[in-house]
Amino acid sequence: MFIESFKVDSPNVKYTDDEIHSVYNYETTELVHENKNGSYQWVVKPKSVQYEFKTDTHVPKLGVMLVGWGGNNGSTLTAGVISNREGISWATKDKVQQANYFGSLTQASTIRVGSFNGEEIYAPFKSLLPMVNPDDVVFGGWDISDLNLADSMTRAKVLDIDLQKQLRPYMESMVPLPGIYDPDFIAANQGSRANHVIKGTKKEQMQQVIKDIREFKEANKVDKVVVLWTANTERYSNVMVGLNDTMESLLASLDKNEAEISPSTLYALACIYEDVPFINGSPQNTFVPGVIDLAIKRNVLIGGDDFKSGQTKMKSVLVDFLVGAGIKPTSIVSYNHLGNNDGMNLSAPQTFRSKEISKSNVVDDMVSSNGILYEPGEHPDHVIVIKYVPYVGDSKRAMDEYTSEIFMGGKSTIVMHNTCEDSLLAAPIILDLVLLAELSSRIQLKAAGEGKFHSFHPVATILSYLTKAPLVPPGTPVVNALSKQRSMLENILRACVGLAPENNMILEYK
Ligand code: NAD
Repeated sequence: MFIESFKVDSPNVKYTDDEIHSVYNYETTELVHENKNGSYQWVVKPKSVQYEFKTDTHVPKLGVMLVGWGGNNGSTLTAGVISNREGISWATKDKVQQANYFGSLTQASTIRVGSFNGEEIYAPFKSLLPMVNPDDVVFGGWDISDLNLADSMTRAKVLDIDLQKQLRPYMESMVPLPGIYDPDFIAANQGSRANHVIKGTKKEQMQQVIKDIREFKEANKVDKVVVLWTANTERYSNVMVGLNDTMESLLASLDKNEAEISPSTLYALACIYEDVPFINGSPQNTFVPGVIDLAIKRNVLIGGDDFKSGQTKMKSVLVDFLVGAGIKPTSIVSYNHLGNNDGMNLSAPQTFRSKEISKSNVVDDMVSSNGILYEPGEHPDHVIVIKYVPYVGDSKRAMDEYTSEIFMGGKSTIVMHNTCEDSLLAAPIILDLVLLAELSSRIQLKAAGEGKFHSFHPVATILSYLTKAPLVPPGTPVVNALSKQRSMLENILRACVGLAPENNMILEYK
């Protein structure tokens, strides 16, 4: 059964006009490697830590600025939100289609809140805590191509033509701001698109982005802004001592107009200075150590990297399932072909390499979780191929072969073929990223013994469900398994309203 909303009634939870306050026992473990009479053994001690969470319930008017606004993702997301807001429906060859938010964790998924009369009760994910309604988001952003959003939508060839016709009047007047263009960082084949660029030194370009954010905020009367990179994949920046390895070296390099500072790093720096969350939806290393250092020092949220939309999402489910079932994946081979501008940009070796890196590490945590199947340091063969095939446009093909060793030397091979519009997968993920980044900036917490409430660590691991290569604070384990990432997010939001983690024990019926 489905309910629209709920309120928690508990001595540990207080709802006031301004906030939800919850006291929460975090059940965890402490591990000790003990020497008992000359031999070492592991001892696991259950441990309970009391936390308090405070969530500001005033939902702000939110502005979202996309870097690469005129791209397939940017135009598709903008079109999708307008369609939902305006209640647009359109004729396809199959039926009259209504706008929806399918594929969005916050807007289209549910959580279990309990049982009632022998039935499981589910509520919308977004009913856990007050969140920005996507219909109220104001969109803006930058692009190195000067097309307005209506023409960008047409160029993208993603949405049905009847829908495009209805959206055109809303989107014609939306024109991206000029973007920071550096041909050294993206494929040479993007050159003809770059007719709308910010001039000047790297520092002047960053300062222009700061000015743009301030003017956008003022013009649209928004309370908060989140910036998200959905522009072309860049090549990796070199990370070098004295160049970008610390905040000081990076800022000194900026003063020297160092060529190795990428456009995405410049946008990130501008946001950190403006106290605006910045999320990286592409695979490149925007967050060089100097950026992470600055974000931590200024306590500004950064999150990334690379949207986890299709093939990798599947991989982080399938490999988790196989390894969790005691089956040993030994070879994972992933082919993609796509024909959109992203595919064209990725046809250059340096930008492809960024994608290859971000797609490669996604099974590491699952493999290292099972020392029965894998020797230390042993990995399945894992190969990723991406090819540009213009004809298929945004309709990406992903073909995967998983070979595993099973009982008594047997082999199992699973082959998958997925055909799907890439931007229709990515757009709802972008929405979730910005809504959750905004929400997490309204949550404060403290553990027993900590004097003051504080925000989450600025490196936002809470967003990792949505990213292929989750950015984590230095020294933090990376979790790629999709179900663990979802549980982490859901359970933290549940804690904010004093609900226990979803443990699926259903003891009531045992
Ligand atoms: P796209 O090429 O259609 O859009 C990118 C846009 O960015 C273009 O309009 C381009 O002109 C603009 N641009 C490039 N450099 C810029 C800069 N420095 N400043 C401002 N604008 C700039 O690509 P897309 O399909 O929308 O994908 C966007 C990004 O998202 C890509 O890096 C892609 O790898 C990543 N991504 C996409 C998916 C997906 O499923 N669609 C999944 C994961 C990651």
